[in-house]
Amino acid sequence: MANEEMKVRVRFAPSPTGMLHLGGARTAIYNWAFARSQGGDFILRIEDTDPERSTHENTQIILRALRWLGLEWDEGPEVGGAVGPYFQTERMATYEAALEELKATGAAYPCFCSKERLDACRAQAEKSQGGYAGYDGHCRDMDPEEAAARIAAGEPHVWRLRVPEGHGPIAFDDAVYGAMSFPADVMDDLILVRSDGSPTYNFAVVCDDANMGITHVIRGDDHLSNTPRQILIYEALGLPVPIFAHLPMILGPDGKKLSKRHGATNVEDYRDRGFLADAMVNYLALLGWSLDGETTQIPREMLASEFSLERISKKDAVFDEEKLTWLDGVYMREMSVGEWIGEATPWLAYAHRLGAQALAGVSVVPSPDKDQQKERLASLIAPWQDVPEEEWQELVAEVADRRAWYERIYPLIIERQTTFNELPDKLAFLFWGANVALDEKSVAKVLKKEGGRADEALELCREVLTDGSIPWEAEPLQEACRAKGEAAGLKPKLLFQPLRVAVSGNQVSPPLLESIELLSRSDVLARIDGVLSIMR
Ligand code: GLU
Ligand code: ZN
Repeated sequence: MANEEMKVRVRFAPSPTGMLHLGGARTAIYNWAFARSQGGDFILRIEDTDPERSTHENTQIILRALRWLGLEWDEGPEVGGAVGPYFQTERMATYEAALEELKATGAAYPCFCSKERLDACRAQAEKSQGGYAGYDGHCRDMDPEEAAARIAAGEPHVWRLRVPEGHGPIAFDDAVYGAMSFPADVMDDLILVRSDGSPTYNFAVVCDDANMGITHVIRGDDHLSNTPRQILIYEALGLPVPIFAHLPMILGPDGKKLSKRHGATNVEDYRDRGFLADAMVNYLALLGWSLDGETTQIPREMLASEFSLERISKKDAVFDEEKLTWLDGVYMREMSVGEWIGEATPWLAYAHRLGAQALAGVSVVPSPDKDQQKERLASLIAPWQDVPEEEWQELVAEVADRRAWYERIYPLIIERQTTFNELPDKLAFLFWGANVALDEKSVAKVLKKEGGRADEALELCREVLTDGSIPWEAEPLQEACRAKGEAAGLKPKLLFQPLRVAVSGNQVSPPLLESIELLSRSDVLARIDGVLSIMR
């Protein structure tokens, strides 16, 4: 078993029956981090033996999601390695060889029971014994000659593991859950190879983990009940048993197992909603593991050096998207403007498209409530997928061409930005040209407030903004406006809020004069005039 010199080898073994979901991603992260922290190997193996549900497309999606998360594997698909192939469907010969060994020692035997017989056994047991304890061992003691003759005659059969009689409890030391023990006498003789010759999950996984030299099996605790069965297979093959570490579940905020009901569980949806891979890895790593119980910011380099199995929790973890969003903002603020614009480009291009769309003059639009805003954000999943390709290329090219201008947005929003998909709605006003879409509530609260002086405030600001002798820069413009307001007895708030609404459409916006600086004088004046005209 494990000794000091043994190199750690771990694997992530997804079944390509769907996308990479958050639970799978966390399992991958733990395996990756453990390998890195131990100077070991991280292996990726695709468990594609279920022909009906496994697809090549899903495999591609999983590989892409792992790469996006930055979890590079040392051996596996597209990378190769000494103990490949890394797709189970390409390893059939190894399962056959293992079965031959088990046949030779008598540890595997053929079972000819029909589905009808097994179904009847189950029904009978459920009625009379209050539950089905598994296969009854009907074919276990069949005369080998009879069995050979029936096989030779082509009779359908599966191969079962002969669970040794009198086997004591199956015990193992789980790296997370501690000492585990399962009675062996209630284990039925599990199927190793089906009648079509395909290996079962338990058999294939043991063969692969053994043949690939896996030292630690780190996986979700939904596999905990498989582990004693797998240990029986290791024993039957005379192979060393790896160390197991079963991971606690990830729950939704309502305490139920995380699922589609809780919103996106697909990793790539988070990418497409504008979350950063670094924040995802950090956040998922903390769902069941901690450095010291308090540190929340653990960049991948730290994870790769500090990760340990000892600090995995037995307690189920709760996925909280708000915490993830907060952490995303933390990582966001650590980006340089160059990194930021690299990631932000599609969102900026989309903001441009949104802002330039179908506006004419001044319009008033209904104010969304909190739920609507949340829904709107959640619906912005790579929204450019619906934009015609040619138009999209132009929009993206525009960001590249006017990069210096786009970079000036960065200081305006970075302090408060949490995810990229906030940007389109927040920044659309920069692309309105001479038009304005006014938020209904802001109109009522700021522009049409009873006894208010919003029109006067707009007139005053207009005078300043027309004055060509003042540089078109935030600070001098702000100063001049403020002075004018003061002279007229208007407090800054009463002066600038109407201007904010007139220019950005909303009482909440990025810093106002800095935003105005990004717009042209003629557009700003046109917006003010348009708004003044509907106020009269
Ligand atoms: N292929 C299995 C799954 O996706 C994982 C098996 C394992 O880790 O042992 O659930
Ligand atoms: Zn049988």
